[in-house]
Amino acid sequence: MVVGERGISRLRVEKVKIQIDSADRIFSQFIRLRDKRCQRCFSLVRMNGKGLPISHTASHYFGRGRENTRFDTENVDTVCFSCHRIWGSDDKEGYRMFKIKQLGEQGFKLLQMRSEMYKKKDRKMSLLIAKEMLNHLLKTGD
Ligand SMILES: [Zn+2]
Repeated sequence: MVVGERGISRLRVEKVKIQIDSADRIFSQFIRLRDKRCQRCFSLVRMNGKGLPISHTASHYFGRGRENTRFDTENVDTVCFSCHRIWGSDDKEGYRMFKIKQLGEQGFKLLQMRSEMYKKKDRKMSLLIAKEMLNHLLKTGD
């Protein structure tokens, strides 16, 4: 659980129980390296000497409790901790409008459908895929 999610967990109790594993951590690095900026205020993500992100957080539009969209690149956006709090509580509608603009009405509907589908947990596979995506991005920049 990242520090920035504390404000949200008081409102959404189910978030507290979500365990973060290495597949989540690698996938979060991939997302922050892909976006490079907070998608709400555009502040820049800081990188370490290896070119890996060390600031900001990966925000799940549909929460991590939904396994099928937990590692879905369209469901997750880079935000700073302040904006994560704002989109997660005070301005959920703002986050929804952002997603519709980002994915289009149809893309947003499809994401919502995917978020409601069942997926069996396979974190070994999720970790392998996240590592592959991160390494590809590190090598090629896209
Ligand atoms: Zn921000």
